[in-house]
Amino acid sequence: MTEPMPTAYDPQAIEAGWSARWEQSRLFVADASSPKPKFSIAVPPPNVTGELHMGHATNGTIQDVWARYKRMTGHEVLWLPGTDHAAIATQNVIEKQLDREGTTKEEIGRAAFGELVDEWYRKVGATIVEQFRELGASLDMTRLRFTMDAAYVRAVRTAFVRYYEQGWLYKGPRIVNWCPRCQSAISDLEIDWQTHEDTLYYVAYQVEGSEEKVTIATVRPETMLADTGVAVHPDDPRYRHLVGRFAVLPLVGRRLPIVADEAVEKEFGTGALKVTPGHDPLDYEIGERHGLELVNGMRPDGTMNVPELARYDEIPALDARARVVEDLRAQGLLVKTEPYTHEVGHCDRCGTVLEPMVSEQWFLDMKELAAMCIEASAQGKVRWHPERYERTYLDWLRGIRDWCVSRQLWLGHRIPVYYCGNGHQFAAVDPPQRCAECGSTELREETDVLDTWFSSALWPFATLGWPEETLDLRAFYPTSLNSTARDIINLWVTRMIFSGLFFMGEAPFQDVIIHATIQAADGRRMSKSLGTGVDPREIVKRYGADALRAWAAQVAMSSQDVRFDESRIEGYKRFSNKLWNATRLVLSSIANEAPKGSPSPDGDLGPAERWILSRLQATVREVTAGIEEYAFQRSIEAAYDFAWHDFCDWYLEAAKSRLRDGEPSARSTALHVLDTLLRLLHPFMPFVTEELWHRLPDERDYLVRTSWPEPDPRFDDGGAEAAFADLLRLVEEVRSVRHSGKGGTAGGRLRIDAELGRSERELVTDLARVEIVDEVGPSALPLAWGEARFELAISSARAPQRAAERARLEADLAKVEQKLANPAFRERAPAEVVGKEEQKAAELRAAISRLA
Ligand SMILES: [Zn+2]
Ligand SMILES: [Zn+2]
Repeated sequence: MTEPMPTAYDPQAIEAGWSARWEQSRLFVADASSPKPKFSIAVPPPNVTGELHMGHATNGTIQDVWARYKRMTGHEVLWLPGTDHAAIATQNVIEKQLDREGTTKEEIGRAAFGELVDEWYRKVGATIVEQFRELGASLDMTRLRFTMDAAYVRAVRTAFVRYYEQGWLYKGPRIVNWCPRCQSAISDLEIDWQTHEDTLYYVAYQVEGSEEKVTIATVRPETMLADTGVAVHPDDPRYRHLVGRFAVLPLVGRRLPIVADEAVEKEFGTGALKVTPGHDPLDYEIGERHGLELVNGMRPDGTMNVPELARYDEIPALDARARVVEDLRAQGLLVKTEPYTHEVGHCDRCGTVLEPMVSEQWFLDMKELAAMCIEASAQGKVRWHPERYERTYLDWLRGIRDWCVSRQLWLGHRIPVYYCGNGHQFAAVDPPQRCAECGSTELREETDVLDTWFSSALWPFATLGWPEETLDLRAFYPTSLNSTARDIINLWVTRMIFSGLFFMGEAPFQDVIIHATIQAADGRRMSKSLGTGVDPREIVKRYGADALRAWAAQVAMSSQDVRFDESRIEGYKRFSNKLWNATRLVLSSIANEAPKGSPSPDGDLGPAERWILSRLQATVREVTAGIEEYAFQRSIEAAYDFAWHDFCDWYLEAAKSRLRDGEPSARSTALHVLDTLLRLLHPFMPFVTEELWHRLPDERDYLVRTSWPEPDPRFDDGGAEAAFADLLRLVEEVRSVRHSGKGGTAGGRLRIDAELGRSERELVTDLARVEIVDEVGPSALPLAWGEARFELAISSARAPQRAAERARLEADLAKVEQKLANPAFRERAPAEVVGKEEQKAAELRAAISRLA
């Protein structure tokens, strides 16, 4: 027993203390040699430069619920933390720093740049991992990993070399999204799409050997300098006669084959498409299908690369556009222009408009790797929750292209390929001294680095020490589950799966959980730059980590996106406070006499005890099933309802006087239910449960080291539940009569047409605060209670007031219903507003039926 409890729960006062105690007690340090069954999760590594956001908070909650639950069900748990080196983001930070100092990375060179990067990593360290502590995340901090630490670098190089030896890595031209400022290929995930108001130019191309012209619409006329074909849809009658002939490229004079391709949209522009395989991904594909020439019309810095056309060469693309348009107009080839709104890709890091461009890149051949994934899925080795995401995964695998793994950055895992002066090329894990083929010491190292997803694809086993045969790897691979957001299913999850299958011979996890995305309160994407982000650390300060977690657990597994709702988080803070007060009440009634033992099903239990103990078993089953079935909302809602309504509102009220009087069965029941409830809630709300549990009598270890509650069927008692629920309905009837009239107070007299035992009579007397009598007098209200009837005398002249109240409520309801019946309202009003109106209607209907 500890010091007296403050009257209100203050999360700030206890959370940091528990975080520190848990870690000092090494509660979360996994023991690879433990004989217990293993359970492991590798945290999706956040960017080392990042800050905790709502996505992390949600995903962190899911993983922590599992980690704590598994510990309580007898597993050896490893929840491994780590961070990703975030190449583009970090390189940007360093480049900006250099810019402020009036220099560039090229001026200071690669070595000095590398030092600045290391310094930066030391400075930001694992700030974001620290932030997970505030959420109560039970991570094994002794195993913190970073994708750039020495062992991890070795794993990445080993993986590359093994693929290389397999013959699956090759260098070739490829159209990529190119950022002219970052001078690097940019992955699809790093594109920021923005709506642009542009001009659509209609340009006439002469058909060779004919008077006919084909008009083509384009938003980027400067790219026409690199056109190598014209494409039309095979079913388009306007152009069918031209297929197989040639058009002449204005300003350049190049002969362009006219080809038929299904990919052409008949409805766009004139239905005829200029094909520029070097500068458009769709055109690149059309070019491949029809063997069109590939012309690279742009330099990596975004200036034009057309040496044979001096007027446009080496000037920025936008300047070239102006000149091309001017020249077309002068030659009478510009048919018309019109305004055009479209989505334009920008570099997510620096905001520059991306240019699709062909460049030399490293590729990983995906044929066999994709086949392995598809087979693993067919054999049920990877299960998706919700199941429909398996389609996303399989569709991507079936249409997969080779993976462009190179990036032209300075920061990241350097591709471990070496070139010698005699034209040899080889890959090596350890930096070699001489050429593997001719022994030449004149070696040049590849300057490209690997896509960050290449290194994070190895995360589930590289964090455990692979390629070494470590104890951790044997104990904790495959991991148990992966929980993540849907936008990185293919970029990350799929790649982990084939990497695991290829390098480890086993999928890296059996279950993949795709959690809901938390949107801003207005339904927009949460974004720091748009100012629509919510800082989870602020929420933790306001309501406590438990409240944020309980809400995250409640919404995370719903398959829909969820709007941030602060009021619901506040609701969970009130819930924490409710638990706090319930504990105070139980403890004050126990005083210093801890009851001996748990309640026994054969013991002398009253109707309230039989009821709450039976309800408790149902709650244990529901909370457990919710966790096991990836439906945390079921768990948290069951625990919440049981704690708030069954335990606090009814049981403790009903047992209050007997608790005070020291009745043993009431005391042991109250304590047992509270103890069980705190265990059930612990994975969701670790701080408040740990604090309260430690205040209960007797020596206490930590909740994660105690056992998870098991339902005890001896307490299942449907009869007791039904009988008690019946009494509660009687009490509610009495209460609602009292509340529906103005000036209703406690007290009153009740006559019941049914046989009630002594305990039952006491319960009704206590809970409804009435006296049970044989005669109530002429002013009593006759009321129905199931089959039986009762009469209640509280005060006279209730009926007219009730009628007036009812009329008012009915008028309100009519208004709301009218609004809801209006289709325009339902269409235009935000879902939130409609929901509120619907709720209002339901409440009004309930109030009216109570009066009736
Ligand atoms: Zn950029
Ligand atoms: Zn050589």
